Amino acid sequence: MGKRVQVIEVFDSLQGEGVWVGVPMTFVRLAGCNAPELGLECVKWCDTRYAWMPHAGIERAVESVASEVTLPRCCVTGGEPLLQEEEVLRLIAALHGKGVLVHLETNGTVVPNVLPPADWIAVSPKPPAYHVSPKLAGVAGEVKVIIDEPLFRLGLERASNRVGEIVCPFADAQVCLQPEASGGSELVRMAIALVMAHPDWRLSLQLHKIVGIP
Ligand code: SF4
Repeated sequence: MGKRVQVIEVFDSLQGEGVWVGVPMTFVRLAGCNAPELGLECVKWCDTRYAWMPHAGIERAVESVASEVTLPRCCVTGGEPLLQEEEVLRLIAALHGKGVLVHLETNGTVVPNVLPPADWIAVSPKPPAYHVSPKLAGVAGEVKVIIDEPLFRLGLERASNRVGEIVCPFADAQVCLQPEASGGSELVRMAIALVMAHPDWRLSLQLHKIVGIP
């Protein structure tokens, strides 16, 4: 029997965040998240709580999941997809086998045994420590920092310094600042002010929430 993977959902949509915003992709959301056990503060505003439990969703053959992907790009996300590292490697291989480019979204906390050969890796370090595996930071194309209330309360100058520290290990990644969606417009204004002060950073708004798509 082929490798099986615990999957929450597979759906087609536009990439809603970061560098590839607006590009059609098939999303494969995997089950399980380590943020609650690590005490990460993103649990307060997470919009995919339904993906936290390791046995949520259904167990499926990797090949069957790959066969559902018909778009040129597939975004493997979670939860934290690297909790199923071996399965992710198999899924990437199956997708590459059919010519699909793979984007991987991770919180960066899992130290992978093998560097995932994804075509694009987006890392979103999580508060309070924003710790990221140096292995992943070294290959990320994108680092997404969520501007949340605690960062906002630092004020512009200290928040700027803090974001600078968070993204420091990501020498080659595009920095994307994304206001936390349930926060007020002051978070958006803070993210804009930070980007204007650092023109090599960019603003990321959640397109899918703005236009009402999955
Ligand atoms: S790591 Fe991602 S899926 Fe897990 S709680 Fe944080 S935001 Fe949600």
